[in-house]
Amino acid sequence: MTKPVYINWAFENGSPMDWEESPEGTVVFQPLFDYERGSRNRQLTHWHFKLSGTKGQTLRLRIPPKDNIYGGRNGNAFPVPVGAQMSGDGVNWTPMIFQTMPDKSIETAVTLLSDEVLFARIEPYTTRHLAELIERIKDNPLVKIEAIGETIERRPLEIITLSAGPGRKSALIRGRAHPWEAGGNWFIDGIIKQALSDPAILAELDIHILPMACKDGVVRGLTRFNVNGYDLNRGFARGLTFSKSGAVENFHLVQWLDDRKAEGTLPCFAIDLHDDDNGNLHFNEGSDAAHLERMHTLEKMMREGTYFREGIEKGRASTFGHGLLELYGIDSIVYELNSNWLNATRCVPDSEVWRKFGSQFAEVLRKFFAEVYKQ
Ligand SMILES: [Zn+2]
Repeated sequence: MTKPVYINWAFENGSPMDWEESPEGTVVFQPLFDYERGSRNRQLTHWHFKLSGTKGQTLRLRIPPKDNIYGGRNGNAFPVPVGAQMSGDGVNWTPMIFQTMPDKSIETAVTLLSDEVLFARIEPYTTRHLAELIERIKDNPLVKIEAIGETIERRPLEIITLSAGPGRKSALIRGRAHPWEAGGNWFIDGIIKQALSDPAILAELDIHILPMACKDGVVRGLTRFNVNGYDLNRGFARGLTFSKSGAVENFHLVQWLDDRKAEGTLPCFAIDLHDDDNGNLHFNEGSDAAHLERMHTLEKMMREGTYFREGIEKGRASTFGHGLLELYGIDSIVYELNSNWLNATRCVPDSEVWRKFGSQFAEVLRKFFAEVYKQ
Protein backbone atom coordinates (compact mmCIF):
# COMPACT_ATOMS: atom_id res chain seq x y z
CA MET A 1 0.00 0.00 0.00
CA THR A 2 1.52 3.30 -1.02
CA LYS A 3 0.73 6.50 0.80
CA PRO A 4 0.11 9.82 -0.94
CA VAL A 5 3.32 11.58 -1.86
CA TYR A 6 4.38 14.77 -0.17
CA ILE A 7 6.67 17.42 -1.62
CA ASN A 8 8.82 19.70 0.50
CA TRP A 9 10.74 22.63 -1.01
CA ALA A 10 11.15 24.67 2.20
CA PHE A 11 14.94 24.50 2.43
CA GLU A 12 17.89 26.40 0.99
CA ASN A 13 17.75 26.40 -2.83
CA GLY A 14 14.39 24.57 -2.76
CA SER A 15 12.13 25.78 -5.57
CA PRO A 16 8.73 27.21 -4.61
CA MET A 17 6.08 25.35 -6.60
CA ASP A 18 2.59 23.93 -6.88
CA TRP A 19 2.16 20.17 -7.19
CA GLU A 20 -0.53 17.53 -7.42
CA GLU A 21 -0.59 13.72 -7.49
CA SER A 22 -3.09 12.12 -9.86
CA PRO A 23 -4.79 8.79 -9.00
CA GLU A 24 -2.81 7.16 -11.85
CA GLY A 25 0.48 7.93 -10.11
CA THR A 26 1.61 11.01 -12.01
CA VAL A 27 3.04 13.84 -9.96
CA VAL A 28 2.47 17.10 -11.81
CA PHE A 29 4.78 19.79 -10.48
CA GLN A 30 4.93 23.44 -11.45
CA PRO A 31 7.88 25.48 -10.18
CA LEU A 32 7.07 29.19 -10.10
CA PHE A 33 8.32 31.55 -12.79
CA ASP A 34 11.03 34.01 -11.87
CA TYR A 35 10.20 37.54 -13.15
CA GLU A 36 12.35 40.43 -14.37
CA ARG A 37 11.66 43.95 -13.21
CA GLY A 38 10.99 46.45 -15.98
CA SER A 39 10.18 43.92 -18.71
CA ARG A 40 7.78 41.07 -19.47
CA ASN A 41 10.60 38.54 -19.16
CA ARG A 42 10.13 35.47 -17.01
CA GLN A 43 11.91 32.14 -16.77
CA LEU A 44 11.27 28.74 -15.21
CA THR A 45 14.28 26.46 -15.28
CA HIS A 46 15.16 25.63 -11.69
CA TRP A 47 13.67 22.91 -9.56
CA HIS A 48 14.91 21.32 -6.37
CA PHE A 49 12.59 19.52 -3.98
CA LYS A 50 12.27 16.50 -1.72
CA LEU A 51 9.57 13.99 -2.57
CA SER A 52 8.39 11.68 0.21
CA GLY A 53 6.76 8.49 -0.99
CA THR A 54 7.32 4.75 -0.69
CA LYS A 55 10.58 3.02 -1.55
CA GLY A 56 10.13 0.99 -4.75
CA GLN A 57 7.14 3.05 -5.88
CA THR A 58 7.06 3.94 -9.57
CA LEU A 59 5.87 7.43 -10.48
CA ARG A 60 5.66 9.64 -13.51
CA LEU A 61 6.90 13.19 -13.00
CA ARG A 62 5.46 15.84 -15.28
CA ILE A 63 5.77 19.59 -15.77
CA PRO A 64 2.91 20.95 -17.90
CA PRO A 65 3.68 23.14 -20.94
CA LYS A 66 5.33 26.42 -19.92
CA ASP A 67 6.28 29.52 -21.89
CA ASN A 68 9.31 31.47 -20.81
CA ILE A 69 9.39 35.08 -21.98
CA TYR A 70 12.78 36.25 -23.18
CA GLY A 71 13.50 39.53 -24.96
CA GLY A 72 9.76 40.19 -24.66
CA ARG A 73 8.86 37.07 -26.70
CA ASN A 74 7.16 33.87 -25.55
CA GLY A 75 9.01 30.60 -26.15
CA ASN A 76 8.71 26.98 -25.05
CA ALA A 77 10.51 26.55 -21.71
CA PHE A 78 11.43 22.98 -22.67
CA PRO A 79 12.47 22.82 -26.34
CA VAL A 80 14.80 19.83 -25.88
CA PRO A 81 14.98 16.81 -23.53
CA VAL A 82 15.97 18.02 -20.08
CA GLY A 83 18.81 16.53 -18.06
CA ALA A 84 18.18 16.40 -14.31
CA GLN A 85 19.36 14.59 -11.17
CA MET A 86 17.90 12.67 -8.22
CA SER A 87 19.39 11.57 -4.92
CA GLY A 88 18.46 9.62 -1.82
CA ASP A 89 21.02 11.34 0.41
CA GLY A 90 21.82 14.73 -1.16
CA VAL A 91 25.39 13.59 -1.79
CA ASN A 92 25.23 10.87 -4.43
CA TRP A 93 23.17 11.90 -7.45
CA THR A 94 21.77 9.83 -10.31
CA PRO A 95 21.17 11.41 -13.72
CA MET A 96 17.74 11.33 -15.33
CA ILE A 97 16.22 12.76 -18.50
CA PHE A 98 12.79 14.35 -18.92
CA GLN A 99 11.43 13.68 -22.40
CA THR A 100 9.65 16.41 -24.34
CA MET A 101 6.04 15.51 -25.09
CA PRO A 102 3.95 16.59 -28.13
CA ASP A 103 2.01 19.08 -25.98
CA LYS A 104 5.34 20.70 -24.87
CA SER A 105 5.15 19.26 -21.37
CA ILE A 106 8.06 17.17 -20.09
CA GLU A 107 7.80 13.78 -18.41
CA THR A 108 9.90 11.03 -16.95
CA ALA A 109 9.28 7.79 -15.04
CA VAL A 110 11.10 7.13 -11.77
CA THR A 111 11.28 4.34 -9.24
CA LEU A 112 11.91 5.70 -5.76
CA LEU A 113 15.14 4.25 -4.39
CA SER A 114 14.20 5.33 -0.86
CA ASP A 115 11.21 6.81 0.97
CA GLU A 116 12.58 10.30 0.44
CA VAL A 117 14.19 11.40 -2.81
CA LEU A 118 15.62 14.77 -3.79
CA PHE A 119 15.03 15.93 -7.36
CA ALA A 120 16.98 18.78 -8.93
CA ARG A 121 17.46 20.32 -12.36
CA ILE A 122 21.25 20.45 -11.87
CA GLU A 123 23.18 18.78 -9.05
CA PRO A 124 22.74 21.45 -6.35
CA TYR A 125 25.60 23.69 -5.28
CA THR A 126 24.46 25.93 -2.42
CA THR A 127 26.07 28.40 -0.02
CA ARG A 128 26.88 25.37 2.15
CA HIS A 129 29.08 23.96 -0.64
CA LEU A 130 30.71 27.38 -1.08
CA ALA A 131 31.38 27.60 2.67
CA GLU A 132 32.96 24.13 2.56
CA LEU A 133 35.15 25.20 -0.38
CA ILE A 134 36.28 28.33 1.47
CA GLU A 135 37.00 26.30 4.62
CA ARG A 136 39.12 23.85 2.57
CA ILE A 137 41.31 26.49 0.91
CA LYS A 138 41.35 29.55 3.17
CA ASP A 139 44.62 28.72 4.96
CA ASN A 140 46.51 27.95 1.76
CA PRO A 141 49.20 30.66 1.28
CA LEU A 142 48.25 30.88 -2.41
CA VAL A 143 44.68 31.86 -1.53
CA LYS A 144 43.25 35.23 -0.56
CA ILE A 145 39.53 35.64 0.11
CA GLU A 146 37.92 39.06 0.41
CA ALA A 147 34.32 40.21 0.53
CA ILE A 148 33.85 42.95 -2.07
CA GLY A 149 30.42 43.85 -0.71
CA GLU A 150 27.10 42.32 0.21
CA THR A 151 24.06 41.11 -1.67
CA ILE A 152 20.62 42.69 -1.25
CA GLU A 153 19.97 40.28 1.63
CA ARG A 154 23.35 41.11 3.23
CA ARG A 155 25.19 37.95 2.25
CA PRO A 156 28.93 38.45 1.59
CA LEU A 157 30.08 38.55 -2.03
CA GLU A 158 33.45 36.82 -1.98
CA ILE A 159 36.24 37.12 -4.49
CA ILE A 160 38.71 34.27 -4.19
CA THR A 161 42.15 35.17 -5.53
CA LEU A 162 44.68 32.48 -6.34
CA SER A 163 48.15 33.96 -6.69
CA ALA A 164 51.77 32.91 -6.24
CA GLY A 165 52.83 36.55 -5.67
CA PRO A 166 52.70 39.96 -7.33
CA GLY A 167 53.56 40.80 -10.90
CA ARG A 168 51.48 38.40 -12.95
CA LYS A 169 48.63 39.04 -15.34
CA SER A 170 45.25 37.78 -14.23
CA ALA A 171 41.96 36.19 -15.24
CA LEU A 172 38.56 36.95 -13.73
CA ILE A 173 36.00 34.14 -13.51
CA ARG A 174 32.40 34.74 -12.42
CA GLY A 175 29.94 32.01 -11.49
CA ARG A 176 26.24 31.86 -10.74
CA ALA A 177 25.08 35.18 -12.20
CA HIS A 178 21.87 33.20 -12.68
CA PRO A 179 20.82 31.19 -9.63
CA TRP A 180 19.73 27.96 -11.36
CA GLU A 181 23.11 27.53 -13.09
CA ALA A 182 24.98 25.41 -10.55
CA GLY A 183 27.22 23.78 -13.18
CA GLY A 184 29.55 26.77 -13.13
CA ASN A 185 30.15 26.37 -9.40
CA TRP A 186 31.24 22.75 -9.74
CA PHE A 187 33.42 23.85 -12.69
CA ILE A 188 34.99 26.55 -10.48
CA ASP A 189 35.68 23.92 -7.78
CA GLY A 190 37.66 22.02 -10.42
CA ILE A 191 39.58 25.13 -11.52
CA ILE A 192 40.59 25.91 -7.94
CA LYS A 193 41.64 22.35 -7.13
CA GLN A 194 43.83 22.14 -10.23
CA ALA A 195 45.33 25.62 -9.83
CA LEU A 196 46.34 24.79 -6.26
CA SER A 197 47.84 21.43 -7.18
CA ASP A 198 49.79 22.27 -10.37
CA PRO A 199 52.32 25.05 -9.56
CA ALA A 200 52.81 25.76 -13.30
CA ILE A 201 49.34 27.38 -13.45
CA LEU A 202 49.89 30.07 -10.83
CA ALA A 203 53.44 30.54 -12.13
CA GLU A 204 51.76 31.86 -15.27
CA LEU A 205 48.73 33.84 -14.02
CA ASP A 206 46.66 35.00 -11.07
CA ILE A 207 43.04 33.88 -10.96
CA HIS A 208 40.27 36.00 -9.42
CA ILE A 209 36.96 34.20 -8.88
CA LEU A 210 33.58 35.66 -7.93
CA PRO A 211 32.00 32.25 -7.34
CA MET A 212 28.38 33.02 -6.52
CA ALA A 213 27.17 36.37 -7.83
CA CYS A 214 23.43 35.85 -7.32
CA LYS A 215 23.72 34.30 -3.86
CA ASP A 216 20.28 35.41 -2.61
CA GLY A 217 18.65 33.79 -5.64
CA VAL A 218 20.55 30.55 -4.96
CA VAL A 219 19.30 30.49 -1.36
CA ARG A 220 15.71 31.21 -2.39
CA GLY A 221 15.63 28.69 -5.23
CA LEU A 222 15.11 31.26 -8.01
CA THR A 223 15.87 30.72 -11.68
CA ARG A 224 17.38 33.84 -13.23
CA PHE A 225 17.06 37.19 -11.47
CA ASN A 226 18.32 38.66 -8.22
CA VAL A 227 15.76 39.21 -5.45
CA ASN A 228 15.04 42.68 -6.85
CA GLY A 229 14.23 41.26 -10.29
CA TYR A 230 17.48 42.25 -12.03
CA ASP A 231 19.38 40.07 -14.49
CA LEU A 232 23.03 40.13 -13.38
CA ASN A 233 24.15 39.35 -16.91
CA ARG A 234 22.73 42.59 -18.32
CA GLY A 235 23.51 46.26 -17.88
CA PHE A 236 27.26 46.19 -18.55
CA ALA A 237 27.52 49.01 -21.08
CA ARG A 238 28.72 52.58 -21.41
CA GLY A 239 26.19 54.99 -19.98
CA LEU A 240 24.55 52.39 -17.73
CA THR A 241 25.13 52.12 -14.00
CA PHE A 242 24.24 49.60 -11.32
CA SER A 243 22.59 50.89 -8.17
CA LYS A 244 23.08 49.72 -4.61
CA SER A 245 19.36 49.12 -4.25
CA GLY A 246 18.95 47.30 -7.58
CA ALA A 247 21.69 45.04 -8.97
CA VAL A 248 23.99 45.63 -6.00
CA GLU A 249 25.98 42.49 -6.84
CA ASN A 250 27.09 44.14 -10.10
CA PHE A 251 27.60 47.51 -8.40
CA HIS A 252 30.27 45.87 -6.25
CA LEU A 253 31.83 43.97 -9.15
CA VAL A 254 32.15 47.19 -11.18
CA GLN A 255 33.66 48.95 -8.16
CA TRP A 256 36.19 46.12 -7.82
CA LEU A 257 37.05 46.46 -11.52
CA ASP A 258 37.36 50.25 -11.19
CA ASP A 259 39.77 49.75 -8.28
CA ARG A 260 41.86 47.34 -10.38
CA LYS A 261 41.86 49.85 -13.24
CA ALA A 262 43.07 52.62 -10.92
CA GLU A 263 45.89 50.31 -9.74
CA GLY A 264 46.78 49.25 -13.28
CA THR A 265 46.02 45.61 -12.45
CA LEU A 266 42.90 44.91 -14.52
CA PRO A 267 42.50 41.27 -15.54
CA CYS A 268 43.33 40.74 -19.22
CA PHE A 269 40.79 37.92 -19.59
CA ALA A 270 37.35 37.34 -18.03
CA ILE A 271 34.81 34.55 -18.37
CA ASP A 272 31.24 34.39 -17.08
CA LEU A 273 30.06 30.83 -16.47
CA HIS A 274 26.45 29.94 -17.24
CA ASP A 275 24.32 26.90 -18.04
CA ASP A 276 21.88 26.49 -20.92
CA ASP A 277 20.54 23.95 -23.43
CA ASN A 278 23.30 24.56 -26.01
CA GLY A 279 26.76 24.69 -24.41
CA ASN A 280 28.24 27.41 -26.63
CA LEU A 281 30.91 30.05 -26.18
CA HIS A 282 29.45 33.52 -26.76
CA PHE A 283 31.80 35.76 -28.72
CA ASN A 284 31.75 39.53 -29.15
CA GLU A 285 31.32 39.40 -32.90
CA GLY A 286 31.81 42.75 -34.58
CA SER A 287 34.48 43.75 -32.08
CA ASP A 288 38.13 44.16 -33.00
CA ALA A 289 39.85 41.44 -34.98
CA ALA A 290 42.74 40.96 -32.55
CA HIS A 291 40.31 40.26 -29.70
CA LEU A 292 38.40 37.73 -31.79
CA GLU A 293 41.62 36.02 -32.84
CA ARG A 294 42.61 35.61 -29.18
CA MET A 295 39.18 34.16 -28.37
CA HIS A 296 39.48 31.70 -31.25
CA THR A 297 42.86 30.63 -29.85
CA LEU A 298 41.08 29.93 -26.55
CA GLU A 299 38.34 28.02 -28.33
CA LYS A 300 40.90 25.84 -30.11
CA MET A 301 42.75 25.13 -26.85
CA MET A 302 39.45 24.26 -25.14
CA ARG A 303 38.56 21.85 -27.93
CA GLU A 304 41.95 20.17 -27.60
CA GLY A 305 42.30 20.21 -23.83
CA THR A 306 38.81 20.01 -22.32
CA TYR A 307 35.38 18.45 -22.70
CA PHE A 308 34.31 21.44 -24.83
CA ARG A 309 32.83 20.13 -28.10
CA GLU A 310 30.02 22.57 -28.72
CA GLY A 311 29.97 25.72 -30.82
CA ILE A 312 30.17 29.49 -30.89
CA GLU A 313 27.36 31.95 -31.01
CA LYS A 314 27.06 35.70 -31.04
CA GLY A 315 26.94 37.19 -27.56
CA ARG A 316 24.28 39.68 -26.55
CA ALA A 317 24.72 43.38 -25.92
CA SER A 318 25.30 44.60 -22.34
CA THR A 319 26.21 41.13 -21.03
CA PHE A 320 29.34 40.53 -18.96
CA GLY A 321 31.03 39.37 -22.17
CA HIS A 322 30.26 42.46 -24.23
CA GLY A 323 30.42 44.92 -21.37
CA LEU A 324 33.82 44.15 -19.85
CA LEU A 325 35.39 44.41 -23.30
CA GLU A 326 33.63 47.70 -24.01
CA LEU A 327 34.15 49.25 -20.58
CA TYR A 328 37.59 47.99 -19.61
CA GLY A 329 39.16 46.48 -22.75
CA ILE A 330 39.21 43.04 -21.07
CA ASP A 331 39.03 39.99 -23.36
CA SER A 332 35.73 38.78 -21.96
CA ILE A 333 33.28 36.07 -22.95
CA VAL A 334 30.22 34.26 -21.70
CA TYR A 335 30.45 30.48 -21.63
CA GLU A 336 27.22 28.47 -21.41
CA LEU A 337 27.91 25.01 -20.02
CA ASN A 338 25.46 22.50 -21.47
CA SER A 339 23.15 21.58 -18.60
CA ASN A 340 21.44 18.64 -20.34
CA TRP A 341 24.04 16.55 -22.06
CA LEU A 342 27.79 16.64 -22.57
CA ASN A 343 28.79 15.31 -25.99
CA ALA A 344 32.36 14.62 -24.88
CA THR A 345 31.37 12.32 -22.03
CA ARG A 346 28.01 11.11 -23.43
CA CYS A 347 26.21 11.80 -20.16
CA VAL A 348 24.01 14.20 -18.24
CA PRO A 349 26.77 16.17 -16.48
CA ASP A 350 27.09 15.92 -12.70
CA SER A 351 29.47 17.44 -10.15
CA GLU A 352 32.24 14.97 -10.96
CA VAL A 353 32.11 15.75 -14.69
CA TRP A 354 31.95 19.53 -14.12
CA ARG A 355 34.89 19.39 -11.70
CA LYS A 356 37.01 17.41 -14.15
CA PHE A 357 36.04 19.88 -16.90
CA GLY A 358 37.05 22.78 -14.63
CA SER A 359 40.43 21.22 -13.89
CA GLN A 360 41.01 20.81 -17.64
CA PHE A 361 40.09 24.47 -18.12
CA ALA A 362 42.65 25.56 -15.50
CA GLU A 363 45.36 23.90 -17.60
CA VAL A 364 44.01 25.62 -20.71
CA LEU A 365 44.21 28.97 -18.91
CA ARG A 366 47.90 28.37 -18.21
CA LYS A 367 48.59 27.55 -21.86
CA PHE A 368 46.41 30.40 -23.12
CA PHE A 369 48.12 33.00 -20.92
CA ALA A 370 51.58 31.68 -21.82
CA GLU A 371 50.85 31.97 -25.51
CA VAL A 372 48.58 35.00 -25.75
CA TYR A 373 49.46 37.33 -22.85
CA LYS A 374 53.18 36.68 -22.66
CA GLN A 375 54.55 38.97 -19.91
ZN1 LIG B 1 22.83 32.23 -17.38
